[in-house]
Amino acid sequence: MTSRSQLHFDTVVIGGGQAGLSIGYYLEEQDRDFLILDASDCIGDTWRNRWDSLRLFTLARNSSLPGMSFPASDDYFPTKDEMADYLQTYATELTLPIRLNTRVKALIRNNDYYVLQTESNRLTATNVVVATGPFQRPYIPKFADELTPSITQLHSSDYQNPAQLPAGSVLVVGAGNSGAEIAVELTGDGRSTWLSGRDTGHIPCWLFNSRLFWWLSGTIFTVDTWLGRKIKKRSLGQGDPLIRLTPADIRQSGVERVARTEGMTDGKPRLEDGQVLDVDVVVWATGFRPGFEWIDLPGLTLDENGYPIHEKGVVTEEPGLYFLGLPFQRTPVSATIRGVGPDAEYIALRLNAHH
Ligand code: FAD
Repeated sequence: MTSRSQLHFDTVVIGGGQAGLSIGYYLEEQDRDFLILDASDCIGDTWRNRWDSLRLFTLARNSSLPGMSFPASDDYFPTKDEMADYLQTYATELTLPIRLNTRVKALIRNNDYYVLQTESNRLTATNVVVATGPFQRPYIPKFADELTPSITQLHSSDYQNPAQLPAGSVLVVGAGNSGAEIAVELTGDGRSTWLSGRDTGHIPCWLFNSRLFWWLSGTIFTVDTWLGRKIKKRSLGQGDPLIRLTPADIRQSGVERVARTEGMTDGKPRLEDGQVLDVDVVVWATGFRPGFEWIDLPGLTLDENGYPIHEKGVVTEEPGLYFLGLPFQRTPVSATIRGVGPDAEYIALRLNAHH
């Protein structure tokens, strides 16, 4: 039981998305004294804020957190709002101790415990689990600054629907899942749409949702095996393969696939093959970067891409510090809804050992 005035906890979880809630489930099972802090004002907002037509690429049977099934038939693809509502119900039914509207601005150490500075408060904890999400800072290439102001530009994380954009043609930069889905939606709206970027490959939706795929991901493709480590090395830093849409779907929708965008000429986007596109809107589906600069701990090192150095989420040089929900933290599905549960259980057991 936590009270509003309590200032020290055995464990504080930073982030109340699917990762933070999953570990909450295990901490509750262990009867720990813990608190989940989240910057948003409602559980599930990360999902609610994504574009209107978004549906999950994981079936309901692959979209559940530990201890509570997603409330839909197994072969249903939930909408993003249904996912948000599920997370909210999960937090309520499990009566997880959560403090909303609370962004952690700094995390430091003071001798035996961690100090978490929020806008209005200072909390301390013996263990800290950072579950702030795999997609933190929208990334837009620097040369976007040279785009002429008459061309509207936005990141895919700010895209909601075609009606939000001024009339005219669109260049979507980045051909991963988000870029491809947004491009197909815009073509359906009657716009000339170009999709720029490397082919990121394709895992058929049926395969991604099959028992075999999840079994392989949890056993053979993990960081514990040579093959898993090889896959991790290859996959990080590349766009994720298409899952629901196939390259043929994109072609048939009328979207025009073009080379990577490499810069600007006279304020217009220039492709690798030298073509300069005359468009009205640019949507940057160019991914995200981590954002862990607010953590200042001597035992934590960030790699060249800004991700923490860790072993399956455990920071060995910083006893009591853990991460959850990082891309390929332990398995290729570590940053997915179903995949984060086993990682949460793994961390909860390590927390125990430290305790
Ligand atoms: P988030 O959902 O990002 O939650 C992190 C939480 O931390 C947020 O609530 C935020 O407010 C909070 N926070 C951040 N910083 C702080 C701070 N300093 N202090 C306090 N709180 C903080 N996965 C699937 O399994 N199936 C799918 O179909 C699927 N579709 C996806 C579609 C898109 C477009 C994207 C981008 C991802 C998709 N994913 C999917 C991947 C993944 O499931 C989601 O990205 C998911 O939101 C990750 O959950 P999370 O809890 O790790 O992070």
